[in-house]
Order: sequence, then C-alpha cells, then structure tokens
Amino acid sequence: MQWTRREFLGSAAAACLAPSAWAQSEKRAPTPPRIIYYNNFASHLLCAYNPNMYYPELPYRWSDEDWRRLVDMIAHFGFNVFEFWLEPRLFCREALGSPVGKEFTRQLNAVIEYAHSRGLQVEMIVAIATVGEKWRTLCPNLADEWREIRFLWDAWIRRFPGLDIAGIFPGDPGACSRNGCTAETYIDKSIEIAALLDQLRPGIGIEFNTWGPPFFGWGNIRMSPDSRGEFVPEDQGTAWTFSRARADRSMNHLLKRLPDFPANTAVSINLGFNGDGNPQGEQDARPWANAIAKTRRILTWDFSLTEGENAVYPHYRFTRLFARRKEERAAAPYSGGICFTMTPMLNQLSLFEAAQSFKDRDGDAHRLAGDFFAKIFGETGRAFVDDYRLFEVIPDWGSYDVTRLPRAEYHKRMGRFVERLEDAKGAVNSGAVLFPDPEKYRQELVFFARLFADLTAPHPDYNALKQLYWNRVYRIYDRLPDHVDPRPRGNTERFVRHFMNWT
Ligand SMILES: [Zn+2]
Repeated sequence: MQWTRREFLGSAAAACLAPSAWAQSEKRAPTPPRIIYYNNFASHLLCAYNPNMYYPELPYRWSDEDWRRLVDMIAHFGFNVFEFWLEPRLFCREALGSPVGKEFTRQLNAVIEYAHSRGLQVEMIVAIATVGEKWRTLCPNLADEWREIRFLWDAWIRRFPGLDIAGIFPGDPGACSRNGCTAETYIDKSIEIAALLDQLRPGIGIEFNTWGPPFFGWGNIRMSPDSRGEFVPEDQGTAWTFSRARADRSMNHLLKRLPDFPANTAVSINLGFNGDGNPQGEQDARPWANAIAKTRRILTWDFSLTEGENAVYPHYRFTRLFARRKEERAAAPYSGGICFTMTPMLNQLSLFEAAQSFKDRDGDAHRLAGDFFAKIFGETGRAFVDDYRLFEVIPDWGSYDVTRLPRAEYHKRMGRFVERLEDAKGAVNSGAVLFPDPEKYRQELVFFARLFADLTAPHPDYNALKQLYWNRVYRIYDRLPDHVDPRPRGNTERFVRHFMNWT
C-alpha cells in the first residue's frame, strides 16, 4: 500500500504540534511507520551495483531515467522515504562550487521531485561536522570551525528545496574529542543546527541520530593532542568504546534537552549501544528508547540487518531481520526505521524483504522470497528460494546464521542453481517492477551462482576468480586513487579467502 502525499502532509502537520502531542496523536490515528530506503552511495562503497555520483568520467553513472526506475521499484516494494547521505566529499565548501556538486544537486532534486510523485518523502542525512574528501571533522568548540559547520548546513539545505527530512548524525566516519568536545556537545550543537534548519524551512522533519555507543566518537574517539580533526583510520574503532557512565550521562542530557529540538523531530535509537544494535547488559538502550518515545517519534537505525558494508553478493539475512523487527515491537513504540543498501541493483530481494518487515513483522521471510521470485520467474521461481539462500555463506557483520555445507555438496548444488537460472530465461516476466530489468537481474544471479560454484570446485584458479569478481564488482577502483577507507580491496581478499579455507 502506498501513502499518498496528502497523508504525508497530514502527518507532518500533526507532528508540528507541541512535542507532547506526538504520543497523543498516535492514540487518535496511528501514523504510518517510516519505511526508509537508505542508499549509501558514498565514495568508499562504490561498486557496479551502486550509483556513482562523484566521477562523471567513470562507470556506474545512473541517468535520471535509471533513478526513476529505482524509485518505481522501491515505491512498489512499500518504502515511503528515500534517504541519502550527503557524504563529506560533498559536505564541504569546495563541492558547493564544483561541477560534481552542481550535478549532484541537479540530479537529487530530480529524484526528490519524482519520489514525491510516487508518494515518497526524501531525507538527507549528514554527519554534523565531518567535511571534505579526507573526512576531516571540524570542531564546534572552535568559533571559526563552528561558523563553517553552520555555513555548510545552511548552504546545502537551501540546495534541496523539496527535502522533507534532514537527518543529523554524530559521525562514522568522524567525530570530535578536541577542545573539550563530548557527547553533550554533539547534542547541544545538533539542537542549534536543527533550529537553523527549522528557521530556513519551517516545519521540516528533523531526525536526530544517537548512532554509536551512543553518539559515535564524541568525547571518546582517540585524537592526538596536535590533531586538527583529521580522519585517522586506525582510531575510528575507539569511537565505539563503551562506558556506562558516558552513556548514562549523555542520554540523560538528551532527555533533558529533547524539548529544545524543533517540534517535528524524530529520534533514531537502536535497541543497543553497539554496532549490531543488540540490547545486551549495560548496552541495553531500550529504557532510553521508551523514555524518548514519550514525547518523540522513535526510529531504528539498525544498519547491519540487510547486507552490511562488506562483501558484495546476493544476500539472504532475513531470519535475523524479522527476528529484530519482533524484538523492536516488544521493546518500544518504534515507528519505522532504515533499510540500508549499497547494492540496490543486486540485492533487490533484501530491499523487498526489509520493506515488508516493517509492514508485517510476523511475515514469513521465506514465503516472501518465494513471492518475489514468482513475480520475476513465474511460479517455478518459488523453488529458487532454497538455492538462493546458499549465497549467504560468509560470516560477517550482520550475518551470523550462514549456510554450512561440505564443499563438494555446495559445489554441486550451486551448479544446479546455475542450470535452473539458465532454464528460467524463457520464463522471465519482463513486466515485473524491478531495476534493472528482470532479465538483467537473472544474468547477475547466473554470474554469482557460477562464481560460487567455481570457487568451490575441486581445484579453482583462485587468482583468476578473484580478478573476475573484482572486474565485475569493483573495477571502478582501478581508476581511482586509494580512498581513505580502502575497503573494496580488503573485502575482495576476505571473500576469496573464505573459499580457499573451505574444506
Ligand atoms: Zn571539538
């Protein structure tokens, strides 16, 4: 079911009442959950299945028509918010005047307009103070740097007149421990930014994000005494350092200051203050989520559920996804949240399942997968579910319940899946709402099924297969200087090593 534009406006108007009205309006008429398609196409997550928004001369660019087909697909799946990250490469003064920044603005405005026509809202998220190609974090406790932060928020929000929601998040990458900055600084300064945005665009939705242990990196990220806010990859992990005292102090501060956020503010908070959002021990965030929910809409920002950020292949992580949705229902009055993707052109099934998981938390993930394949391949497609599940073999962030089979048996079964997919060529429903088109989707599945079969053959040429994978997924990085986050190369190594070690 699609939410109409009128219903959106209605819910926005309701949210403009005094903050305490949020809970009351819920009692009168339930507000639809925000089912957020979050496409992270930042420059360290580029691949063949994600739009390249930064390098006009390199592959994987999407035309406006591609974007419209993507929006059609996610609207069809049940999403009602399209979310993108204005990554630091763009959130800087240089990008404002650059051709890349201008084209990004033009194309995203076209996406916003089309998304509205399909009944979706659009949200832009920004790390409050992390700027530029090298992901430097400015310090809000330095007058000049704070002025620059405010300037950038002001300038970029003006660029997207149709934007419905602005999300403020602490970092990852980036955060500040310089000059006395703490989690409380992040909260206080977010309120000032939110007020600025609300003044520029009265009533705009604000999403304030608690991401991290909580408030990623603020006051706890390691920074050398002479740091000027540079991104130091080996120090990023310290931003996850958990301390009960820090969590209590900062969350109490947030509760105290919640009324100071603009009326139309929602808060993202996971079940737990860790990367997996697990509510374990002292990291249990559920009491805080409930306390916030008394006056504000709360959302989950559980990032790892759908596909994580590492190896790119067709994912099947839905048992955990639906289990988490039920945990959320039991924990606090959540009203939607994100479904992350960095591979919208490959993991369409994950997107479909993720959207459905917010609509029906008791849904049967495997039956839904059967429905998905039946729409594309006809009724015989239902039988693909057991084969497709075989792709999820690598234990990784967000993926713990993986397929474990003897190598020879796995090889045989993947080989059969290749044959089934080849046989399905004539059965493809070209009218299915999918981006890219269903036949292209089938070909991608054939590629990955054959690759996984070859990687588990008796004596694979691992180097040749590694190159094949790289060329298919990551070849764009052959033409780029090393990123501050060299993740694609590490992912490829780990991906192939998994099969080398498989007996
Ligand atoms: Zn600072």
